Amino acid sequence: MAKNPKLVIIVGAGIVGISLAWHLQNLGHEVKLVDPKLYQLEINECASFAATGILMGNIFNPTKGRSWQLRQKSITLWTQWRNSLKFRQQQLIYRPGLLFLSTNKQDQNSQFKAAHSRTELSLSFWNRSMLNRLSPTIPETVLAGLFSPEDGQIDPNHILNAFYKDSLKRGLEIIPEMLIALKRQNNEWRLEIERTHRLKAPWVVLCAGFGLNSIFRRLGYDSVVESIIGQALQLELPHYSENNKWQNWPGSLMWRENSLTPINKNTFWIGSTLESSNYPEIGILGTLINRYTTSPLWLKKSKIIKHWQGRRYRPIYKSAPLLQLLAPGLIVANAHYRNGMLLAPATAEWVQKCITLTSQKEIPLNKV
Ligand SMILES: Cc1cc2nc3c(=O)[nH]c(=O)nc-3n(C[C@H](O)[C@H](O)[C@H](O)COP(=O)(O)OP(=O)(O)OC[C@H]3O[C@@H](n4cnc5c(N)ncnc54)[C@H](O)[C@@H]3O)c2cc1C
Repeated sequence: MAKNPKLVIIVGAGIVGISLAWHLQNLGHEVKLVDPKLYQLEINECASFAATGILMGNIFNPTKGRSWQLRQKSITLWTQWRNSLKFRQQQLIYRPGLLFLSTNKQDQNSQFKAAHSRTELSLSFWNRSMLNRLSPTIPETVLAGLFSPEDGQIDPNHILNAFYKDSLKRGLEIIPEMLIALKRQNNEWRLEIERTHRLKAPWVVLCAGFGLNSIFRRLGYDSVVESIIGQALQLELPHYSENNKWQNWPGSLMWRENSLTPINKNTFWIGSTLESSNYPEIGILGTLINRYTTSPLWLKKSKIIKHWQGRRYRPIYKSAPLLQLLAPGLIVANAHYRNGMLLAPATAEWVQKCITLTSQKEIPLNKV
């Protein structure tokens, strides 16, 4: 528990903001959450509800630097967070295991090395004969795979609702309105909220996704984030594969920069991670399913049930995510691009340390 509980206002209730609210409350801080979509979380169009929920921490490369540290920290914390939520009777769906497939010799060799050098992560190398046991089948063009039991997939809808409901039980105050502007006065932040609501607090954390740029412009900064589209599909397996669905599948797969997660007996999700523009690129997902001659027949014959997309935000001038103390009492913790689900726990811990360890008076106004 925090020795000196603080009043913290969080702006934005996607996965980053809502899990941060939950984490800070657990530590005894008083939290207010501001987001106009708060009463309609299920139909919120924010990136978090569009995510496919892959948590790829241990299997990631390169294995050094900030990104690696955030991933490692998050995988550890996700286990603790899931246990804590389950203990508090919250429903969530977690599908453990991630198998990263390789289709060329070079990747195959580095996977082999990773499995034998990163022993503390329990990674294992899957050769072709192990892949042959999977049904539906993995195409022959795949040479091998690297399996991580501690990576996996979490259902975005359930986890967002779990954080939300548990935080409400603990007394989270929600303000379902839009932040318009904020300014510093008498060592506090004064927030102008739409519909004449006014709030003040010594600490404010910005997690507003698409709303960040307009908040930043009001503070006198340039735009800081840009958006890249992300798409996903829900598909149904063809009927002929009925007897052996997902047999020996160890969880989700990463293949050709796409993730594939079995959701239930008949259906699965595919998420594309490689898109590069602000508009849905026609055919990115279709390519995987229909046009690659090497795609397995079951994938080509699967029926598309649902297609969705969301905007993923990333910093314009820096690598994702944006974790920064902007001014005394003002933090930005956002723009996680492709990994907001994965990195939410490490982000929350970073913010918590910032709030508890920093003496506000020592901090000059920072450049973004
Ligand atoms: C198709 C797709 C698949 C993905 N798959 C994965 C994956 O497998 N694994 C992974 O880790 N990540 C994945 N991501 C990325 C992940 O979804 C994002 O990084 C993450 O959801 C970002 O969360 P967030 O809370 O920062 O932002 P958001 O979810 O966008 O939430 C921002 C919130 O801020 C609110 N807001 C905006 N402006 C204001 C304002 N002025 N005042 C108050 N509130 C405001 C909005 O209403 C919104 O609710 C995927 C994304 C997409 C689109």
